[in-house]
Amino acid sequence: MIGFVGGANNGGVRRAGAGRGLALLIGFNIRVSISCVILLAFLLNVSCATNKQTQLPAPPQLPAAQEAAGVVQEDYSVTLVAVGDNLIHIELINDAKTEADGVFDFDKYYTRVASLIKNADVAFINQETMIAGEGFGYSGYPLFNGPKGIGEAIVNLGFDVVNHASNHTMDKGEGAVFEVIDFWDVQKDVLVLGINRSPEERDDVGKNIIERNNIKIGFLAYTYGTNGIPLPKDKPFLVSLIDTDVMAGEIGALRPLCDFLVVSMHWGNEYEFTPSERQEELALFLAECGVDLVIGHHPHVLQPFRAIPREGSPPMVCFFSLGNFLSAQSEPPRLLGGMMRVTVRKGASPPYGVSVDEAELLPLVTHYEAGYRGFSVYLLSDYTEGLSERHLLRQRNKYSGLSYFHDLVKNIFPPAPASGFPSATR
Ligand SMILES: [Zn+2]
Repeated sequence: MIGFVGGANNGGVRRAGAGRGLALLIGFNIRVSISCVILLAFLLNVSCATNKQTQLPAPPQLPAAQEAAGVVQEDYSVTLVAVGDNLIHIELINDAKTEADGVFDFDKYYTRVASLIKNADVAFINQETMIAGEGFGYSGYPLFNGPKGIGEAIVNLGFDVVNHASNHTMDKGEGAVFEVIDFWDVQKDVLVLGINRSPEERDDVGKNIIERNNIKIGFLAYTYGTNGIPLPKDKPFLVSLIDTDVMAGEIGALRPLCDFLVVSMHWGNEYEFTPSERQEELALFLAECGVDLVIGHHPHVLQPFRAIPREGSPPMVCFFSLGNFLSAQSEPPRLLGGMMRVTVRKGASPPYGVSVDEAELLPLVTHYEAGYRGFSVYLLSDYTEGLSERHLLRQRNKYSGLSYFHDLVKNIFPPAPASGFPSATR
């Protein structure tokens, strides 16, 4: 069962298990929604030719001695967190400069959420902009490139999975993409998604698996495009683009190798709080292909998350957009992002089912002050009226105060109606 839980009230992060009433409510709505899924898939002519059912690898067996002694193995579980766009504008590069020439401190931006990332079993980030280093020139909008220190901060924070399939991946050409691949090649224990050195590397989806606590989690990532900058004609594999034929093949290849399949999607329309028709269509396609969890990003604002029913399997959970993790954007809605936190459970006894146990979104705020200085990411639950008063955008009278962010969360994630599907967190 899935518990959609709160996280933004005063007093910090709040988690609630799925109550009996809530579970029944979700069950009712899944039954209602299944017919819609089939109808929509037919109308939109999207379908996945791959296996629709979750195929699970053989589970490990308890040692015979333990089994004989009647030892009961508890279910396995892992916690996944994910954040959205790490969008490194030139103001963020400037504010990270230290007294040492050419040395940057990006770690300081994230210290207030670092423990949430470290404490997760698996942590994912969307690295929206290129980090190819000084040789490609530091720049912000519209063709971004930053220091490799951004990648080092990602490693220091303990992120396990980094997405590079974004509309900015080709901002500095193919040389910068290879520079970034080279950078990640020497980092230990980080899975990089969405950029590929060769067709063979792209086809080797089996490398995209992270195992924690006896649960194998597979990852794939796609972007809608690269801002009109074409991929090199001789290297169409370089950036993983949304193409349902290719995606069906890659999902079909990875699905049997893992217990739980996550797809990162760089999609949707910028600054829109609701998913586009194309996002909805692709979400149904992914659910039909056997994907378990979708991590969406690119709109730079939050969008809802939702459980999408699947025939014969637990629902797929789709976070349509996590908004910005960090940026120097200067419209108030773009200061509000979110951290996904999902608990995945795998049964220790037959039928060894794998499902999402809890899914929640923790709202985040990007803080910065006069002169675009003092950037820092806060949990909204930790963000105070005093801090809010010092925000550069508050001083420019672009929003009214702390309540602005709480109201925005309520608007994007309305409370669950008494007889409707609870797509919300608070
Ligand atoms: Zn983007």
